[in-house]
Amino acid sequence: MEQIRPKKKFGQNFLIDNNILNKIVKIAEIEPNSLVIEIGIGTGNLTEQLIKEKITLLGYEIDNSLKEGLDKKFNNYSNLNVVYDDFLKRNLKEDLKPYENKTKYVIANLPYYITTPIITKIIESDFNPQKMLLMVQKEVGDRLAAQPGTKAYGSLTVFIKYYFEVKKMFLVSKNAFFPKPNVDSLIVKFEKTPIKYEVNNEKLFFKFVKDAFVQKRKTLKNNIKNYDLIKVEETLKKYNLDLTVRAEKLSIEQFIDITNNL
Ligand code: SAH
Repeated sequence: MEQIRPKKKFGQNFLIDNNILNKIVKIAEIEPNSLVIEIGIGTGNLTEQLIKEKITLLGYEIDNSLKEGLDKKFNNYSNLNVVYDDFLKRNLKEDLKPYENKTKYVIANLPYYITTPIITKIIESDFNPQKMLLMVQKEVGDRLAAQPGTKAYGSLTVFIKYYFEVKKMFLVSKNAFFPKPNVDSLIVKFEKTPIKYEVNNEKLFFKFVKDAFVQKRKTLKNNIKNYDLIKVEETLKKYNLDLTVRAEKLSIEQFIDITNNL
């Protein structure tokens, strides 16, 4: 550890607090024989706790210079497979082929500078993790779990809610990391929910939500000019709303209702 110079450009803040590491593994409640995907394994602190469980771990790490240390640390484990590459560039379908029949979890202390692209990649790929336990920057955690009408609520909140039930688990102080980051962190749990919404056209739903939030401060009318405004207004009326509403006030159910009527 002493020889390692953490690289800021890769968002390297290694988790060094054993209590927190144990707590993460405990609340993950990983089923035996499942596959755990860890993005950004770093020096392997979390990895070390996870592979003690009877699971297979597929790790990703962009920083090749960590390989030597990790190989040494984990030479006794046959249930660990590390891919030294940029997670965002991977073809997940290919990577996950060998594990097709396993229940999948994503458990990671994420590189914060790419939190949204990582989560977006996961929800847009179809590997369907059963559960995710992610360490994120506190403000981002608030956003992921936000309720309509709050400042933190955005299109990502709506997309995630479509697939997962999101719960904030616990705060982690800056002191749990080396080097200390500038922000506090939050462990957020995402649990797969059986599809509980009826969306007629998923593509349209996702596009509409994205468009509705393009300029958050503007009214819905401003952001969705290319849609049939009369139909949108018709649906909004049911909720005593009109086109001057802002996207951040609309619940996922209302977004679905609007797009189902388009
Ligand atoms: N899980 C470790 C490290 C967390 S720091 C721990 O808790 O101690 C985030 C890690 O993500 C760093 O090791 C960094 O090198 C890695 N990383 C950053 N960008 C990445 C990317 N695009 N793909 C894979 N790993 C990445």
